[in-house]
Amino acid sequence: MERAGEAIPGSKYVRAFCPSCGEPMRVSAAAFRLGNYGDCSTCEPPEPSAATLAAAERRQANDGDYSGSWDNAVRSLEDAG
Ligand SMILES: [Zn+2]
Repeated sequence: MERAGEAIPGSKYVRAFCPSCGEPMRVSAAAFRLGNYGDCSTCEPPEPSAATLAAAERRQANDGDYSGSWDNAVRSLEDAG
């Protein structure tokens, strides 16, 4: 079991636990010493930027287009056969 404040091998961060849910997190050693870290990203999700949201919407739209054209392509092959 990891303890809070333990160095994480291969990382400049140390182990800390979310004050709200106990989820293991990585925080910098300095932030850990000062207690200067917040909840995990589950309890306190970083606010998505407008650009991130727009990109997610675009991805969804593209996925829809993709499966739609694939269906059409299969249908046209079936028609041709
Ligand atoms: Zn949490």
